Amino acid sequence: MKNNNWKKINALVPKLYNDPEFQQKFQLQQLKNCLKYTNLHSAFYQNYFKTNDINILDFKSLQDFNKIPITTKNQLQKNPESFLAVPKNDIIEISSTSGSTGQPLFFKYNAQDLERVMYNETSSLALANVTQNDIVVIMTTLDKRFIAGLAYYLALKNIGSKVIRCGVGAIEMQWETILNLKATAIIAVPSFILKLIEFAQKKGINLKNTSLQKAICIGESILDEHIKPNALHNMITKDLPIQLISTYASTEMSTAFTECESHQGLHVQPHLIYAEVLDEQDNPLPPGKVGELTVTPFGVETMPLIRFKTGDIVYYTDTVCACGRIGRRISPVLGRTQNRLKLKGTTIYPEAIIKILYQCSQIDNFAIVAELNLDQTDHVSIYYSTKQHTELPIDTLKNLLQSSLRVLPKIYYETSTFVDNLLQKFATRKVNKFIDLRPKSI
Ligand SMILES: [Zn+2]
Repeated sequence: MKNNNWKKINALVPKLYNDPEFQQKFQLQQLKNCLKYTNLHSAFYQNYFKTNDINILDFKSLQDFNKIPITTKNQLQKNPESFLAVPKNDIIEISSTSGSTGQPLFFKYNAQDLERVMYNETSSLALANVTQNDIVVIMTTLDKRFIAGLAYYLALKNIGSKVIRCGVGAIEMQWETILNLKATAIIAVPSFILKLIEFAQKKGINLKNTSLQKAICIGESILDEHIKPNALHNMITKDLPIQLISTYASTEMSTAFTECESHQGLHVQPHLIYAEVLDEQDNPLPPGKVGELTVTPFGVETMPLIRFKTGDIVYYTDTVCACGRIGRRISPVLGRTQNRLKLKGTTIYPEAIIKILYQCSQIDNFAIVAELNLDQTDHVSIYYSTKQHTELPIDTLKNLLQSSLRVLPKIYYETSTFVDNLLQKFATRKVNKFIDLRPKSI
């Protein structure tokens, strides 16, 4: 690590995960630094603190932090240039958000921020116990303005693991790599692992006896709302007996939340981020209460954010993890505020529908489409196909959805080609079973 600052912080990590008082003191100091830095360098925050009558010198305790106004995605989307806190000449990397919930946002980095990207991912993979002895295949894109792919690569190099960049798709090449090079870990989207399994079964590859030990799973949740393996997780591990580690991040958060090998929630890395869960009135919620994840990442220089509301619905727990680490751990994302659907007065999230559809073993593929009715209410359709020689009558599916959701979207049984084409037509960089055709409001 070139950056001495991260070296120093890294030395504090064991104590931060072990000593509550020390963790609180450290986080308070980091938040003070964030307020001071943004007040000095970010035009947006200078103006925001002024208009909201915030004197950053009044910030003395974590309770005082509740008085700092939140930052929304809309504010960031509307005028990203005003968030820039370094001279334009210092910018060396530009990535973007996927744009799956609106226009892509260009996110910029200086040299220190790229070091932070590497350090954050190194720290996250340490939670997943990825070591220099691992041979890791990256099955995500390293290009297409995707910062996470680059982060994995930089971090694995830093850890000293052997890295193989296969990228997305090319299933035959993925297996050739795993089998020839005796890969021990993969970084992949869970539904892609299902495709790997399907291919292996057709080719007679013995899945019970590969060199693979673990998969770092991104993009889709493999955990249910109780932080237990969900249907997608079980579909993978029934045929491919490896450890699945869930990790979650977004471009704007600049920080990953990752499970340890005890699988009791995704650890909030206390040296890199302050994470809160807020209700709709922006009040902090206690452990176990469901609300919006709101973050303040530490040490970001180019586009620093304070109390950024991520749009991701989670809850947190702060009991000691079985691994011994203290501090907050978050649940998987239970829904996204942008995807919130109102059906006959009932609020549902596409994630809840996705969970039910994954539980139906006969279903091969599906797409959920949201549109806006003329009367401004949401219209939701489910298109599904079934596996060969299996059938799932529409009525059975209707009953299943009705009993879990209490409202019923429109359901259409289609061929797999139809569903594939529909998903393909609206594909963004992320795997998306949910296609939102409602007009975006910014
Ligand atoms: Zn743990």
